[in-house]
Amino acid sequence: MPIETFTAQVEAIKNLTHDVRQLDLRLIEPKTLMFKPGQFISFEMPHPQTGHLVTRAYSIASQPSRSEVITLLFNLVPGGSGSGFLFDLKAGDKTHFKGPARRFYLREDSGRELLFIASGTGIAPIRSMLLANAERPDPRPATLFWGLRSQRDLYDQEKLAELTGRTPTLTAITTLSRPEPGWSGESGRVLRLIEERIASVKNLAVYLCGNSSMIADATSLLQRRGLCPIYREKYYDDTGSPED
Ligand SMILES: Cc1cc2nc3c(=O)[nH]c(=O)nc-3n(C[C@H](O)[C@H](O)[C@H](O)COP(=O)(O)OP(=O)(O)OC[C@H]3O[C@@H](n4cnc5c(N)ncnc54)[C@H](O)[C@@H]3O)c2cc1C
Repeated sequence: MPIETFTAQVEAIKNLTHDVRQLDLRLIEPKTLMFKPGQFISFEMPHPQTGHLVTRAYSIASQPSRSEVITLLFNLVPGGSGSGFLFDLKAGDKTHFKGPARRFYLREDSGRELLFIASGTGIAPIRSMLLANAERPDPRPATLFWGLRSQRDLYDQEKLAELTGRTPTLTAITTLSRPEPGWSGESGRVLRLIEERIASVKNLAVYLCGNSSMIADATSLLQRRGLCPIYREKYYDDTGSPED
């Protein structure tokens, strides 16, 4: 698919947590966006200090069948050019982006079961993949491990429960690395879920998205369990993950 420039209008804004926001963008010109689940788009904006134009990538969190309105999910990085730019957009604003891009997309293939592992807003492209998989006449068996920090960082849990309810081959587990008292769900990093629940990767295709340390640690754990395709989208280099 060629990279194109799009004009879109902010159709809806939803605050999902104290620092995560969802944006629905209606395509104006061209009127639709064809993409594969997992791909991203890029915005250009001035750097708040230098004024130089910088480019930032954001994964499309909606499914390709919804080609007229796309959804983005992003968290506020204090002082950040890209996240600040997106947080400043108001309902009705017009904006421009380029896309779709990159090789992190759901492969059609192969009879392998899907394992999705996300930290923080790394759920965005995986959300697109989960929704696209659920629309298939025969959804492939899939497991999601999603790492967040604490209860105040939780979002989309009801949507996930609804999706697993209508997709019997899907299992979704959210784990909190620093839960407050009263949490009865999984706790610890996503790595713990890999250690405890993935005995072999022989039959899996794995999709990882989030911060660099989670991706590196998860990759090495998975590789100790055997050989399988591992597709990875790194959002940023970290010394402390959003899960920590
Ligand atoms: C292919 C691709 C797709 C992406 N899709 C998304 C997406 O769907 N949603 C999303 O929120 N981000 C996404 N990102 C990250 C996004 O492009 C920006 O890097 C992020 O919004 C921060 O940009 P900034 O200009 O606001 O801050 P910057 O000034 O660029 O970042 C400052 C510092 O903040 C830290 N940082 C960067 N991103 C984060 C983060 N998400 N959480 C915590 N700390 C961070 C890093 O240490 C960075 O050095 C994606 C990145 C890539 C490469």
